[in-house]
Amino acid sequence: MSGRLGPREFSEEEALALPGVCPLCSASSGQLHVESRVVPGGTDEHSYFRCGTCEVRFLWPRLSTEDEVRFYRDEFAVFMQSREGTESLPLTAQAHRERNEALRLERMARISADLSTPKRVLEVGCASGFMLLPLQAQGHSCMAVEPSGLFREDLNSRGLPTFESVDDLVASGDFSFDLIFHYFVLEHVGDPLGFVQQQIGLLAPGGTLEFELPCGNDALLEVYKLDSFRDFYFQVGHQWVFTPQSLSWLLDKTGMDVEVGLRQRYGLANHINWAENGRPGGNPVLAAIYGDALDSAYRERLVDTGHADTLTAVIRKL
Ligand SMILES: [Zn+2]
Repeated sequence: MSGRLGPREFSEEEALALPGVCPLCSASSGQLHVESRVVPGGTDEHSYFRCGTCEVRFLWPRLSTEDEVRFYRDEFAVFMQSREGTESLPLTAQAHRERNEALRLERMARISADLSTPKRVLEVGCASGFMLLPLQAQGHSCMAVEPSGLFREDLNSRGLPTFESVDDLVASGDFSFDLIFHYFVLEHVGDPLGFVQQQIGLLAPGGTLEFELPCGNDALLEVYKLDSFRDFYFQVGHQWVFTPQSLSWLLDKTGMDVEVGLRQRYGLANHINWAENGRPGGNPVLAAIYGDALDSAYRERLVDTGHADTLTAVIRKL
């Protein structure tokens, strides 16, 4: 059982607490529709809405700034482990780095910035530092922001200056960067425009800001329409789920040179596993049957038809 509540009317009290306008584009309430009534990690009060004007999906009621800070400082790492099904694995910095090595290589292959000479690099939401420590070892000058205190001491002891927030970093010195990146962070941030603009302010001339985040046009939601996935996906940690349209709407406000793209993170075996069992995780038997060529073709078709699961953005400072 997914625990899905199913369609029901809002009570009078709940109706009073409904969003008056879209918190991103300020479209009126007539443009707002319920996307999901089930929000993992939230309470009965939480729902996810979709804006018919800018397309963004958003958590309602919004998290207060205090709740947002507390969630990332105290609960986020453990919450995400429980969702990944890795809660039985050790949450030490070294173990986290080791199990993310394949992911690191995959991401490095996509970074568009030229790293052939030493650069100043900042990652926001660096977790165990699995992206940055190897860059630092290659001679780049790296700094990090990580709101969860879990790995910060380890990273500082390894000579990677790690701050709790971008505000703390800015307050501690006059820094600028050639490359700033973050992966699956923007959807967690209450003020995404302020977040991106602050980082643009930290870019040196010629620098790039690159990031990835979930895409709400994910085939599991919009093509297969899997309720099991919907009930898993719109979680309390995600304050927004963007689409190419809503992300472009947001980033256009920066007035910068912006490239928004799509990529497909999960493969066919993962999708079939969702359809069959209603839960995350791969299926090595199916993956072996499909093979790499079919899997690549499937991912490409999802990207080409706009049903990919991940948004990418590159912002260049001239
Ligand atoms: Zn909107």
